Amino acid sequence: MKKIGIVGAGFTGAVLAYRLAREGYSVEVFDTRPHLAGNCHSERDADTGVMVHIYGPHIFHTNDEQVWQFVNQFDEFMPFVNRVKAIVKGRVYTLPINLLTINQFFGKALSPAEAREFLASLGDKSIETPQNFEEQALKFVGRDLYEAFFLGYTTKQWGMHPTELQASILKRLPVRFNYDDNYYNSAFQGMPKNGYTYIVEKLLDHPSIKVHLNERFDRKQAGDYAHVFYSGPIDGWFGYSDGRLGYRTLDFEASRHDGDYQGNAVINYCDVDVPWTRISEHKHFAPWESHERTLIFKEYSRFCGENDVPYYPIRLAKEKTLLKHYVDLANQERGVSFVGRLGTYRYLDMHVTIREALDAADAFLAAQTAGQDVPRFFVDPLQ
Ligand code: UDP
Repeated sequence: MKKIGIVGAGFTGAVLAYRLAREGYSVEVFDTRPHLAGNCHSERDADTGVMVHIYGPHIFHTNDEQVWQFVNQFDEFMPFVNRVKAIVKGRVYTLPINLLTINQFFGKALSPAEAREFLASLGDKSIETPQNFEEQALKFVGRDLYEAFFLGYTTKQWGMHPTELQASILKRLPVRFNYDDNYYNSAFQGMPKNGYTYIVEKLLDHPSIKVHLNERFDRKQAGDYAHVFYSGPIDGWFGYSDGRLGYRTLDFEASRHDGDYQGNAVINYCDVDVPWTRISEHKHFAPWESHERTLIFKEYSRFCGENDVPYYPIRLAKEKTLLKHYVDLANQERGVSFVGRLGTYRYLDMHVTIREALDAADAFLAAQTAGQDVPRFFVDPLQ
């Protein structure tokens, strides 16, 4: 049996292990952390009984029916729709920006067509092709909505002014001219009944899969395997020889309370003078459960230091230049593929991670059958 090494027991590593074990490979999975599921790790809190997203809110949503079918094999997905609220200068609004947000913010009662026209009149027409986050926002929603909902939150989240950030970050958020306040434009959305770690446990539950937690994989071990899939930080593979790729990390200030703390799973705090970006109340991610007590996370964002957990890749010009350097180094390696959020230094949702891992497994198997070299990357990290 050919032996495959997989570095990282998050969704990328677990999906690859699952697929390859079923194709007759013997798989060893390594993770430096003491638990499975990477940043999707969920755990029940002993005090409140609430299922906690230890690394912050993860809401499963996708338009990819195959991915949806795939995850539904491992746990029952319970109905959950993310309806985010935002607090701006002492008032509560609904996100993403929709007809209710627009009407409440401006004190109007506009119809969808009127709101579309109104927003177009607010948009900055001098901006043709937005060059950064701020221009993207000013062009589409105008200065007042931008300053209320995006300027403060984004400055806190990314630690820099929106003029320094890519326009693409804002493109993640829709603007709607109806009262739909579902945060995501996805055909499928839900929460696993038993949490994400349960799904990863099931993915890895196979006699040909051996999991090593609390264990760092050394690049020198790669020779012991027919192939290695590395989902750790790409710069880490090279011992950070030419510097570190920048990430944002998050700190969570947890507290427990009686009853209901905020009445919703996620509330964003958009004002720059409130130090946290959002508060998550985890029991509301599982509306089918009932708990008398509650657990909340106040979320703070900051630059990721050497010993912190990396979350969001920064991907500005400076980081992209360094990334290109590591990608060039990676392309000279043999016997290893760089996969997942950290392996390709991209801002990835769970469903994209799973789709890419399924595709990577197929590409690997096809290369093996054809006797061809396995690619270093299955997607272009520089795209
Ligand atoms: N954002 C914002 N105000 C909000 C929510 C989001 O300015 O109330 C911006 C912020 O820059 C954030 C980006 O939009 O990084 C994408 O938001 P999303 O909710 O997708 O972020 P995630 O949940 O992945 O942190």
